[in-house]
Amino acid sequence: MKLFIDNRTPYLNDYYFQTLCLLYFPGEKFKADDDGFNRASFSLAPEDGSGYRFKAEVTLVSGGRSAHGEFSGGYTPQIEMPAGEFFATNAIGKAFLRAGEKLFGFGLPWGYLSGLRPVKRAKYYLDRGFSPETVRGLFTLDYGASAEKAGLAVETALTEEGMLASVSPDDCGIYVSIPFCPTRCDYCSFVSYSNKKLFDLIPDYLEKLCRDISLTGELVRELGMRPRAVYIGGGTPSILESAQIDKLLTRIENSFELGAGTEYSFEGGRPDTLTDEKLRTVRAHGVDRISINPQSTSDSVLLNIGRKHTVKDFFDAVEASKKYGFSCRNADLIAGLPGDDEESFAKSVSDVLNCGFENITVHTLSIKNAAPIRFIGDGFYDPRGRFARESVVFARKALAGRGLRPYYLYRQKNTVGNSENTGFSLPGKENLYNVLMMEEYSTVFACGAGAITKFVSPDRSLIARHAFPKYPFEYLREDKGIGREEALAFFGKT
Ligand code: SF4
Repeated sequence: MKLFIDNRTPYLNDYYFQTLCLLYFPGEKFKADDDGFNRASFSLAPEDGSGYRFKAEVTLVSGGRSAHGEFSGGYTPQIEMPAGEFFATNAIGKAFLRAGEKLFGFGLPWGYLSGLRPVKRAKYYLDRGFSPETVRGLFTLDYGASAEKAGLAVETALTEEGMLASVSPDDCGIYVSIPFCPTRCDYCSFVSYSNKKLFDLIPDYLEKLCRDISLTGELVRELGMRPRAVYIGGGTPSILESAQIDKLLTRIENSFELGAGTEYSFEGGRPDTLTDEKLRTVRAHGVDRISINPQSTSDSVLLNIGRKHTVKDFFDAVEASKKYGFSCRNADLIAGLPGDDEESFAKSVSDVLNCGFENITVHTLSIKNAAPIRFIGDGFYDPRGRFARESVVFARKALAGRGLRPYYLYRQKNTVGNSENTGFSLPGKENLYNVLMMEEYSTVFACGAGAITKFVSPDRSLIARHAFPKYPFEYLREDKGIGREEALAFFGKT
């Protein structure tokens, strides 16, 4: 995609204009020599020196058609904002939405809001005493979001508020990464080894991971912190053999104080990896939350996305899990998958509800750069995402009808239909780890390849990161430590 940017303000950089374009053109690359299908030109200039008044013009071109949008003059936001960036962004955002709506015939559900965490924004203003109604107005009137999304952001923020009320500055999360999958799904860009030859690394990987878990346990104690949520994720943790799962969970229990109030989750993920024996092993270690992710309960859709398991595998795993009395089971669905339609998506939603999942995450297909689906060709998925947009609204209504409410939400770049990913749950069955991590509310110590520890200061004003090497091979080869020195310095314990 080619961009022409005439920005006569100091508030926005070229990257911001690119981010804006991705809202209507998910997956686009920006190249100066691109003479292709899609183009955008932006003009933004102050109307006076106040920092409150800007003139913006946007022209979008796609497939030989073009549309123009403008905005000029001052604007009174719902909440008083300092002069400058907010008003410049508002002007260009509104001109962009006007052009996009004319060209594509639909409004963006989140308006021009390009940040990935709308709930954090909603919570910020709710915490400062603004009413839910004012915050909803901020989303609809200022950012141009739909009333449905404004309501979703505020409802989610209010649920999170209740969940986080009992979280103290000494509480932390623990994440353990198993970046191996039985095969690679076509929509996935996650760093995960799915090549059988590389599975030979698993024993050494586990050995090093267990060592890092022990060291992290020592660090958590030294910092006087308390694990409130432990999450074993991937990849596909259930790719491990039962004996390996047993070894991993034993090490976790020996390294951290896991009290009755510690949430303990294991991401089964791919149903074809979950055997009765593995479920029994996980449960025997006190893990009481598990994910079993179908993504869709249509075999033809699963085939389209290269998921390499069947709907029967999913139902079998669900039946097996019922024997072990997990207090919370989570299922993931994806809206906007190639070959899915209203009927098959509605069936997926009703199947997971009828299976009795207490916690259901509804993702939207995101076309990431590294995902094989991106290269399959035009027409395989709908990047504009009408179906995805409608599906997530449908799912929210259906889940609400069975008592599941939104408790965490995030957006990704390049999501079809500019939709979101939302975790829903029955009251009390929310996943605290997801919220601590997504809202950067508490320190989350991570272990394993591709994992990132985030240190969050007690007043939550500062965040620092320690990243582990991205790939299992690098993780084994390079010893970057667990970030102990960074942690002690960050928390003033040196
Ligand atoms: S199971 Fe999950 S992490 Fe693994 S390849 Fe598929 S989508 Fe990616």
